[in-house]
Amino acid sequence: MPIYLDYNATTPVIEEVVDAMLPFFGEIPGNPSSQHRFGREAATAVRIAREQLATLLGATPEEIIFTHNGTAANNLALAGVAALAPKDRRHLIVSSIEHSSILQCCRELVRNGWIVSEAPVDGNGRLQVEKLVDLIRPETYLISVMLANNETGTIQPVKEVAALAADNGIIMHTDAVQAIGKMPVNVNDLGVDLLSLSGHKIYAPKGIGALYIRQGLQLRPLYWGGNQENGLQSGTENVPGIVGLGKAAEISRLHLKHHIRHLNTLLSRLESRIREKLPAAEINTHPEHRLPNTLNVKFPGIANTKLVASLDARGMAVSNGAACGSSHDTKPSHVLHAAGKSNLEAMSSIRISLGLDNTAKEMDFLVETLEDIIADEFDSHRHFNNIKSYGEHR
Ligand code: PLP
Repeated sequence: MPIYLDYNATTPVIEEVVDAMLPFFGEIPGNPSSQHRFGREAATAVRIAREQLATLLGATPEEIIFTHNGTAANNLALAGVAALAPKDRRHLIVSSIEHSSILQCCRELVRNGWIVSEAPVDGNGRLQVEKLVDLIRPETYLISVMLANNETGTIQPVKEVAALAADNGIIMHTDAVQAIGKMPVNVNDLGVDLLSLSGHKIYAPKGIGALYIRQGLQLRPLYWGGNQENGLQSGTENVPGIVGLGKAAEISRLHLKHHIRHLNTLLSRLESRIREKLPAAEINTHPEHRLPNTLNVKFPGIANTKLVASLDARGMAVSNGAACGSSHDTKPSHVLHAAGKSNLEAMSSIRISLGLDNTAKEMDFLVETLEDIIADEFDSHRHFNNIKSYGEHR
């Protein structure tokens, strides 16, 4: 059986979520805007899903907008807020490790006259709040900092940044796509005005996301149509997807403690096995502020593309960086770069991201397989500078 260890790229849809969605592909085909019983049933299902998501986040249902995916939520947050900003406040701050759906959106804003500042991170990929403070100016209108990084799993000091934003009258957004379901997330505790999430990272399907918008905050839609989702996401709702996201949110809320415990146990085992068996490996993930499921590891002297391919050939799926549209990219990760890693270091790092179906046995098997692959690699490439560091332990 192949072993899946790439849950930050996407998760399988769990059975309860599939079961909840199924009627909306057949028995209940209604459009939530239709007046008849089928429409009403679909509208009720969307309402329940909105409540489930709001409960998970500590928000009110009116503050939740369903979007096409996490990318759409991030774009709506940034571009939707930016479109209504006063002309003299077109300055935005983001962290240097944001997902492409934030960074590319920033590029577009720059084309439209915005100034974007990138706040740096430390060697473990965690935002340096004191450096972000220096970037705040009277014109700053919006700050966007992700809650947990998709490549390293490093958790960001969003609560601190949100407090700073509030003190300075700045709107605060967080991309919580990778954090939801892996740590407690409450919009009031965080103090954010906007928060994005995505279904396919929390065991719901791909192609559904949501944006939390604090009550009273105005956004401009990115396109126009039938005014669904408060006019911010026109187009007939993806009812099965929304129902699936709602169900996944409910499951996540009810079982979060258990999920975190399970993932923590696996990740600690994996990390200690790596440290013991492969002492030359280096962990890029923050030692403390980290998701319970993600380990980004550098294997000096070995190309990550080679490691990913060799593991794949042996039935194990890990990643060499973000999966989103760039998995076949051979460019070094901008996230590891921002954390001060050289091109070579970034290109010898892999991401292992665990999920609910993984087992302790799989962790041990992964490390044994890595040992074999690395031994083979160094046997056939004796010229590698750091052959000794791996050779010593064998
Ligand atoms: N933000 C982060 C941190 C992500 O990891 C991803 C996807 O990997 C996204 C946003 C985009 O979400 P989606 O794939 O639903 O568009």
